[in-house]
Amino acid sequence: MIDFDKSFGQWLMDVRRQFHQYPEIMFQEVKTTRQIKQLLSEMGIEHYGYEDMTGVVGLIRGGKPGKTIALRADIDALPIEEQTSVPFKSKNPGMMHACGHDAHTTIMLGVAKYLVESGRIKKLKGNIKFIFQPAEEGDGGADVMIKRGVLADPHVDRILACHLQPNLPVKTAGVFHSQSHASTDPFHLIIKGKGGHGGRPHEAIDPIVAGSYFVSTLQTLVARNVDPLETGVVHVGKFAAGEAGNVIPWQAELAGGIRALRPSVRKFLIKRLQDIVKGLEVSFGVSCTLTVKEGYPPCINDTEVAKFLYEIGVQVLGVENIKYLKPSTGAEDFAFFALARPSAMIMLGCRNEEKGIIHPLHSDRFDLDEGVLEIGVKIFVEAVCQYLS
Ligand code: MN
Repeated sequence: MIDFDKSFGQWLMDVRRQFHQYPEIMFQEVKTTRQIKQLLSEMGIEHYGYEDMTGVVGLIRGGKPGKTIALRADIDALPIEEQTSVPFKSKNPGMMHACGHDAHTTIMLGVAKYLVESGRIKKLKGNIKFIFQPAEEGDGGADVMIKRGVLADPHVDRILACHLQPNLPVKTAGVFHSQSHASTDPFHLIIKGKGGHGGRPHEAIDPIVAGSYFVSTLQTLVARNVDPLETGVVHVGKFAAGEAGNVIPWQAELAGGIRALRPSVRKFLIKRLQDIVKGLEVSFGVSCTLTVKEGYPPCINDTEVAKFLYEIGVQVLGVENIKYLKPSTGAEDFAFFALARPSAMIMLGCRNEEKGIIHPLHSDRFDLDEGVLEIGVKIFVEAVCQYLS
């Protein structure tokens, strides 16, 4: 098992804090991209970026020919005003690394640095591709990079990634048997009725009543149509209509989302949502415009690759500190990579109650125990070396 000297741990912390101070949101990760390129250059690692897009790809060619393993790190932050009191708090107003992507990026850079400096790279059969991906938080940077050929030349055989998990204590981790994250497809609905006097409803067509039935009927989708042993979520987060209590408005606007862990359930829920909207038009005489935007697919880990990561976790953390986790109904655009190649994610614990590090991802108080950085590096160094040995 590898052991790092103090200066390596310090380097990891410095790099992470630097990223943390200058967070940038989706597709605006210009300085972040520049910083990653500079660090890769200092390590003497071949890399390329894009003229019209953020993100970086690094490549280490092993001493002998063989397979190519990719390590993916997402690099974007969130539009959140940081409320922590850490000395390296965000200096970019309204932006914060509240999902730990600063740590993901640092961990993969640490792996690159260790492999080069330790000379272990010379013994490896094959290549390591480092994918520093923009726009995980909503615009599907993974999908964009795949379409631009990130998995070709050299052909990537397997993809690994990590995500911090503040529900797990630091120095523990988890993997998934198969599904790890849900699909997410946002929808938007305009219900057009006919405005009128609140006291003379027969002369109007009330979009609020139609919208209310819509919201109620949606509740039957998962409860009455989806196998109880499967997972689905249909939620409405916006219902806007009307201005005054004695007026029937002309229209109502609703927005929400559909989530599922299986492609079949996802497809089914979208179809039923469309059916319900058609029924609304017939039943209430309203006219509806429904748009369902295709979001992220469900993230389905390759069982073999997940088991491989589990075993690495056992070696690095001990068997009592790694477990299989239940899937989450959150979304993750690593799903696009997992669709393209056998892939798996490991969730790295970063909670430390004694230090008050307890806040969830996407919280304006999110923080992480920096001990997770070395652990992440160890796990991926082992994974790469064992896969390419
Ligand atoms: Mn994230």
